[in-house]
Amino acid sequence: MKALVLEEYMKLALRDVPEPTAGPGTVLVRVKACGICGSDVHGLDGSTGRRIPPLIMGHEAAGMVAAVGEGVTGWAPGDRVTFDSTIFCGECWFCLRGLINLCDRRRVLG
Ligand SMILES: [Zn+2]
Ligand SMILES: [Zn+2]
Repeated sequence: MKALVLEEYMKLALRDVPEPTAGPGTVLVRVKACGICGSDVHGLDGSTGRRIPPLIMGHEAAGMVAAVGEGVTGWAPGDRVTFDSTIFCGECWFCLRGLINLCDRRRVLG
């Protein structure tokens, strides 16, 4: 598949990368549209220090479920989806109160 890769700060390249698979408890989304966010601009120039190259850019997208991993229920290939790109721990003080955007160990895809 094609991906926009931040190879180094201020250098993006369209590259062929391996097709991902749906792991246990996850779904694989075939992206149909991806936005460029203000944080992507700061990721590009390295000013935030939160994006470390090499990195596939893009964290605000929509598409369709292409595959479901083992143990996934309620989702099927062809479902239209968007997503929150926040990866949260589910165990910290904030996560236990539903405030996943403040998770002590949060990471963001893309
Ligand atoms: Zn964003
Ligand atoms: Zn947390």
